[in-house]
Amino acid sequence: MTFDTTQTIVAIATPPGMGAIAVLRLSGERSLEITSSVFRPAKKGKSLKEQKAYTIHYGSIIDGDREVDQVLVSLFRAPHSYTGEDVVEISCHGSTVIQQQLLELLVRHGARLAQPGEFTLRAFMNGKIDLSQAEAIADLIASTSETARRVALNQMRGGISNKLAVLRNELLRFTALVELELDFSEEDVEFANRGELEALINSIISEIDKLSASFSQGNAIKMGIPVTIAGKPNVGKSTLLNRLLNEEKAIVSEIAGTTRDAIEDTIHLGGINFRFIDTAGLRQTTDTIESIGIERAFVKIEKARIVLYLADAQANLDEIISEVEDFATKLSPSQNLIVLVNKEDKSTQAHVEEVLSELTGKGFSALALSAKAGHNIEQLQQLLIAMGKADMPENEDVVVTSIRHYNALQSARASLVQVLNGLQANLSGDLLAIDIHQAIDYLGEITGEISNDEVLGFIFSKFCIGK
Ligand code: GDP
Repeated sequence: MTFDTTQTIVAIATPPGMGAIAVLRLSGERSLEITSSVFRPAKKGKSLKEQKAYTIHYGSIIDGDREVDQVLVSLFRAPHSYTGEDVVEISCHGSTVIQQQLLELLVRHGARLAQPGEFTLRAFMNGKIDLSQAEAIADLIASTSETARRVALNQMRGGISNKLAVLRNELLRFTALVELELDFSEEDVEFANRGELEALINSIISEIDKLSASFSQGNAIKMGIPVTIAGKPNVGKSTLLNRLLNEEKAIVSEIAGTTRDAIEDTIHLGGINFRFIDTAGLRQTTDTIESIGIERAFVKIEKARIVLYLADAQANLDEIISEVEDFATKLSPSQNLIVLVNKEDKSTQAHVEEVLSELTGKGFSALALSAKAGHNIEQLQQLLIAMGKADMPENEDVVVTSIRHYNALQSARASLVQVLNGLQANLSGDLLAIDIHQAIDYLGEITGEISNDEVLGFIFSKFCIGK
């Protein structure tokens, strides 16, 4: 990726393929000039370059003598545009031929094809947004659930940036004091109160811990809440998985043009995505599952936030209870368990009711169903939604959704622990300042005060072209 911001870039901003209209976007100093050279306004004598920002103009795109299309041209002027530069958006008819011809024409007149994320990169370079906001824009575009959208929007508005700015400023204020001491090193003065510094570091560490803890939640929002299905062989695990996935497929396929290929094994319920983890084996043959040792099965269960445990309604009461109790002891307190008494169609109602009442009496969330007949699947979906909602952040909570942010927070924390150790050991101000600076830099990596081309290249290459 090049970070050359002197050239004017162009890209198709709408999705590939044919639509009613398509939008091409230019950004850079020469946006208006290049557009003017191929645009003939419907109103004779009108000069595009003299038009005000935030105006729309109707006319034709011409290639020599040939009219390519009739279009609308929208103008934005620096610094009040998405990128902070002069931006032109050309809305043309959606034909892929027109889109390609227009793109090629604009390149011939001096624009360069934009790289993935280059518009947003320029917004970052021009100080319109910080790095975590740029990442949030990518998340927002990619969001497939209501919660993911909300969290990304919060981050885009500066959620995490504002939080971090406060922490960084506190640390900066202290390093300034510590460094001032260096200037007076002969006189043995202490501008920075050590007790106050220690209290500050501790409070920042606890803020960092809070943010870090939200990462597993953030990941669940972005990728879907990890759910796993457990239970003895032949109890109906794969039947249930297929039932849950197919029910959704049926709903989704009613919406024309939607495809769920990319989100295989993810279901979308009540604004939340649920991701069934390590279910590949379940969907193929039951033999594979039996061949997975109990240990490996537990590795996958550990990753789940919600565990669906299936028991066979045909088993007797004591068997079921001891099996479920035994299983429950292996889960961590943060995991939610739903016990499903499956194959209820093969048992008597009295028995099923007795099992359920015993289970709920022992504090389990339990539900009887028939995965095969599809009975009570909707109740299961409602239970999942309720658990998923309880697991989601409040509206204004700042949630860490990026592994990059999480790692930077952990590194900052480690430096702060070093500062605490230094304080204990009565280290001098200059040595403390080194670790404080280190922590400040790590926090700055998140918002991009501290960044390098490699990191930027990595972040922006994940964008789609045209954003
Ligand atoms: P897994 O080994 O736990 O994945 O179990 P499967 O989903 O392969 O199911 C094992 C057998 O039980 C299959 O023959 C299913 O058709 C059957 N089965 C699954 N759920 C039900 C149910 O609710 N009622 C009945 N009668 N049979 C079921």
